[in-house]
Amino acid sequence: MKPLTELTFDNRYARLGDAFSTPVLPEPIAEPRLVIASPAAMALLDLDPAEADNPLFAQLFSGHKLWSTAEPRAMVYSGHQFGQYNPQLGDGRGLLLGEVVNAAGEYWDLHLKGAGQTPYSRSGDGRAVLRSSIREFLASEYLYALGIPTSRALCVTASSTPVWREKQERAAMLLRLAPSHVRFGHFEYFFYTRQHEQLKTLLDHVVHCHFPECLADAEPYAAFFRTVVERNAELIARWQAYGFCHGVMNSDNMSILGITFDFGPYAFLDDFDAQHICNHSDDSGRYSYSNQVPIAQWNLAALGQALTPLVAVEQLREALGRFLPLYQAHYLDLLRRRLGFSTAEEQDQALVERLLQLMQGSAVDYPRFFRQLGELAAEPALRLLREEFVDLAGFDQWSADYCARCHREGADQPARRARMHAVNPLYVLRNYLAQQVIEAAEQGDYAPVRELHAVLSQPFTAQPGHERYAERPPQWGKHLEISCSS
Ligand code: AMP
Ligand code: MG
Repeated sequence: MKPLTELTFDNRYARLGDAFSTPVLPEPIAEPRLVIASPAAMALLDLDPAEADNPLFAQLFSGHKLWSTAEPRAMVYSGHQFGQYNPQLGDGRGLLLGEVVNAAGEYWDLHLKGAGQTPYSRSGDGRAVLRSSIREFLASEYLYALGIPTSRALCVTASSTPVWREKQERAAMLLRLAPSHVRFGHFEYFFYTRQHEQLKTLLDHVVHCHFPECLADAEPYAAFFRTVVERNAELIARWQAYGFCHGVMNSDNMSILGITFDFGPYAFLDDFDAQHICNHSDDSGRYSYSNQVPIAQWNLAALGQALTPLVAVEQLREALGRFLPLYQAHYLDLLRRRLGFSTAEEQDQALVERLLQLMQGSAVDYPRFFRQLGELAAEPALRLLREEFVDLAGFDQWSADYCARCHREGADQPARRARMHAVNPLYVLRNYLAQQVIEAAEQGDYAPVRELHAVLSQPFTAQPGHERYAERPPQWGKHLEISCSS
């Protein structure tokens, strides 16, 4: 364990120089108070969870104090937003404080979101509101608990500093951790500004620091792009399998590491709806749940375009072509597990597709379906679930095929239940649960957000006394409008 003040910094990105980022000091927020900290994220920095009670903790993560070896910088990037190229992006309100090396030799970027204006703020105030900071905190730590690759959240601090969105709110800061904050948009920036030397410097940095396995390849750059495609195929498969909607899959919100990154108005599906649009500002549904698959490929193509000065077009095309089959294989594998199968059969894909078609329009709660399917043996479980479906004849046919499939699988019910419960969460980060704890936090009561986080950090394990978190969302809770404003 390390004392809070003695983190070891080695700021590799800062050393790339001013073409890649600009030194900027955080602008503190007034009267900082710690809202919540993640003990699991603190462990990544070798910090004792008790350090969250150290008064220095809130000071360090609200811009009031800084380690002497931190080198806060705003990174420059650009990107495609809703399909349009925007040359004018960059860290407009977040700062890379530096890179911390832990005892295991892992590097973690400390990124303070909401740290004030930077040269990339455009007309923005450089701030983040409490509501969106809490939402990002909860999602990061919940996705991690589900086993979905993601940036992490160390803590949120609240303040009395006023900020204006649709109404007056209060500024907050979120400390985000990730092995790298390089986005697809970083590469796009150097490509579209024709800084090909810097493009190569960036690529060498990323490959060296984050994809060292590619260095053994005869063509490390091509191997790198292939790996990014593979990681994204796996990531998106996990999102789809668990009903996660990102909401703003602009190429500047895509991490080069293939981890979930830059949370906006995200949602986990309640009732299954393939066309679900979680971002209230996304009029055309570009980033709807089912569009996440082609959009990820579209973003990878945008990244490939930016790499054309360094990788042959044929190799980029070949790698891009692997996305869909890889995605489909991962997705099917995950759904098989969610349905309780440890073997693979040819008809499994059709079984999954038929289930989703039956769910569509039936208002079946997506996460609860899987959990309840494992709770009892297949036949009694399906008898209880049947009433949620509209097409009963179709459901009965599906049930018969599913039961036959379970029979061939051959596991006894206790084994089937244990296997299914290990992959089907009982607790889900529902929008309405997040909304309730945000409203309490805005009144200065942080106990609800802390309790929700604690429950969600073990999503597969039943926690007596916390039954209400596992219930179906109320009607009002299914239709919350979450916008981009943050
Ligand atoms: P986001 O929608 O959070 O992914 O941000 C898109 C771009 O807008 C990034 O360059 C952000 O840094 C910038 N941005 C978002 N909100 C603000 C803000 N309040 N102040 C300054 N820049 C912002
Ligand atoms: Mg962003």
